Amino acid sequence: MEKQIISKLLHWYSTNKRDLPWRFIQKNNLPNPYYVFVSEYMLQQTTVPTVKTRFEEFIKKWPTLKDLTKTTEPKILRFWSGLGYYSRARNLFKAAKIIDKNFKCKIPDQYEDLISLPGIGDYTAKAILGIAYNKPVMPLDANIERIFARLYAFNKPLIKIKKQLYNRADLFFSKKYSSNLIQSFMDYGSLICTPRNPNCSICKIQKYCLSYEKKMQNIIPVKVKKQKLKPKKYTRAYVLMNEKEEILVRTRSRRGMLASMLEVPNDVWVEKKNLLKKDVLIKKINLKFQRKKTLLYSFSHFDLNTDIFYLKVRRKSFPKQKWLNISKFSNSQLPTVMKKIVEKSLMN
Ligand code: SF4
Repeated sequence: MEKQIISKLLHWYSTNKRDLPWRFIQKNNLPNPYYVFVSEYMLQQTTVPTVKTRFEEFIKKWPTLKDLTKTTEPKILRFWSGLGYYSRARNLFKAAKIIDKNFKCKIPDQYEDLISLPGIGDYTAKAILGIAYNKPVMPLDANIERIFARLYAFNKPLIKIKKQLYNRADLFFSKKYSSNLIQSFMDYGSLICTPRNPNCSICKIQKYCLSYEKKMQNIIPVKVKKQKLKPKKYTRAYVLMNEKEEILVRTRSRRGMLASMLEVPNDVWVEKKNLLKKDVLIKKINLKFQRKKTLLYSFSHFDLNTDIFYLKVRRKSFPKQKWLNISKFSNSQLPTVMKKIVEKSLMN
């Protein structure tokens, strides 16, 4: 059965594959490993449509790994604005430097070498090996896991069937067509065996699908019940605008959330509102701030509740501070949460 599924999917893929910029085929009939490497970092936690345009912009700026190693971390972080999860950008840059130094600027083609790089786990290592080097592996992304769960009617949440999924993945190794097969599974999950309302009526592998046979395709993969509420943190942010339409910014600490990135002054983030302590700079200002809206911003592991304050000031009253012109703010190195704070502060 697995052989037939492989053959059907490869055939389907030959005429239905998605046109994605990192799939540009080289003379060896495989995609450029550097493109696959960059795209895999970008795709962690971000959807394909968002990554598509940003990937093209990235490759225009840094067409090769060598070019990437010559830039600086702040430049990559600035580029990453809007994609979120900035640790990916830092890891990508660190990994590029290591590859330049230890692997003669060639993306490694061995699992142990890939997995040793920052930001690369089992899935990403296998995706690079399979897609860029045609090695017989099967990385389990959300699309592939869903197809396997449905084909074999695993009637439990994905988190509880990881071992079974890994075992099934072994049955889908291809020595000759690994790159295409992996991508065909990914595209099939995205276009046909979709998370909701899979297109079973036109499915090429329907007759091998146990979920379809049991009419369970809409309940598999089984959803995890009741998601835990994310913890909340609190802060207050202060947008100071001078007569030249510049806002006061500073660099965050080198450690912790959004390390080394730009910010507007804000209080240390705390778990209870009554623990908030006014920022040292703001404490010294003896003027009344205008209270603006509150922003609730969701990070991966907590929500940040920010009360926003606004004040018009004279530039000369803050001679030692850094300023950012509001016209340059959308392309600035401010992370998304800070941009949203500034945007809210400017609303009436
Ligand atoms: S029959 Fe439906 S559920 Fe089964 S693999 Fe095809 S699209 Fe997915």
